[in-house]
Amino acid sequence: MKRISFHSLAVIVVALLFCAGLGLFYGRLALVGDAWATYPTNRHLYKDGHLVKAGEITDRDGTVLAYTRKGTRYFHEDIRIRQATAHTVGDLDGFVSTGVHSAFLNELTGYDLINGTYNMSGEGHDMRLTVDADLSVTACQALGNRAGTVGIYNYKTGEILCMVSTPTFDPASETGLAEEKGVYVNRLLSGSYAPGSIFKLVTALSALENLDDVASHRYTCARGVTIGGEWLSCLGNHGKVDLESALVKSCNAAFAQFALTLGRSRLTKTAEKVGFNQTLTMDGIACTQSCYQVEKSNDIDFGWSGIGQHNDTVNPFQFLTFMGGIAGGGTCVWPYLVEDISSFSGTVKTMSNGKRVSMMSKDAAATLSDMMRKDVTDHYGDGNFAGLELCAKTGTAEIGDQSTPHSWFVGFCRAPDKPYAFVVVVENAGAGLGVASHIAARVLKAAPKWS
Ligand SMILES: [Zn+2]
Repeated sequence: MKRISFHSLAVIVVALLFCAGLGLFYGRLALVGDAWATYPTNRHLYKDGHLVKAGEITDRDGTVLAYTRKGTRYFHEDIRIRQATAHTVGDLDGFVSTGVHSAFLNELTGYDLINGTYNMSGEGHDMRLTVDADLSVTACQALGNRAGTVGIYNYKTGEILCMVSTPTFDPASETGLAEEKGVYVNRLLSGSYAPGSIFKLVTALSALENLDDVASHRYTCARGVTIGGEWLSCLGNHGKVDLESALVKSCNAAFAQFALTLGRSRLTKTAEKVGFNQTLTMDGIACTQSCYQVEKSNDIDFGWSGIGQHNDTVNPFQFLTFMGGIAGGGTCVWPYLVEDISSFSGTVKTMSNGKRVSMMSKDAAATLSDMMRKDVTDHYGDGNFAGLELCAKTGTAEIGDQSTPHSWFVGFCRAPDKPYAFVVVVENAGAGLGVASHIAARVLKAAPKWS
């Protein structure tokens, strides 16, 4: 009898262990099954360590950017298109972690929890992107041999038309380029730069939303201003300026004083409302954070922070969404890249979720938009941007040492047939009105008309 109960106990223990193991397996399968199935040793998906079983990737017009034929993965035959879309499409070795080949590996290979990587077509799922391959080439050529990024999206629909980052590479003849040069970094999603004067738009927004009768606030600039016993310099001698003339003249002294009037708490709150100090995502891909940290700053540093210096940093994608928020009357239609994912039997799913983020009041958006329009007509020269009804702001990002500063140009078009918000950053290019504005003008003029 004793012997029987011992056996029964042993069987129960073994059965319990089996059930626990099974539970653990299915739990792990649900959590990391995609990683197991898409691991490079899966010969069903990979050949010689390279991804082969994956669907076609096309641009918005159906131009095929990457595809598989007879067990080999190919990219577009034109090297200019390959290089211009390299950071968007990604490579086969996973160096560009934010590229489609890495970030959407499950979608591309057709992985799901029930069937694993098996699907009827045997070729994975096709993905149609929102980008325009020809426009990407124009942007890549405009950047030339400079490092930087051009991001353009339709602020009415959310479609990203252009996401180009330089220096770039050819995914078809990739030979393990030196990562330290930042070749594999998509600067739009993963870049981080001092903003310089483009941050004045955040300070201006905070003033519009927090100060009563904001037009009555006037500050004096005498080639700068003394704050807390220290000198904060300005590039001009602007005299008495209000918010609007301060933005057109990009007056440091006035914006530093606006920041001090607002205080750390209110300015931080506005910055966070438009995306600072948080991880934003684009189709699930995490972007580098934009940072605005002033709690412990003294007055002079806080003054500098209000004009985009001190320790402010900006991620280009975050600023693109801010531009979309102003252009969209206070609400940003969130930018997205993947239009749809389809198998041989039809559309599997769309990624575009039509997400909308409220960033500011309608009135504040309208005033900011008019002020940025005035920047162009009164200062930058509307003739340089014919047909765009451009609203914009330049920024020059001082980078601490003696290097030539980075150059920003951000904004959007109000022309109904070009509802595009944009951000251009060019590293070590000097003042924003030079190189960066010329690149923006060239690419926006080449952008397809929207109807
Ligand atoms: Zn000034």
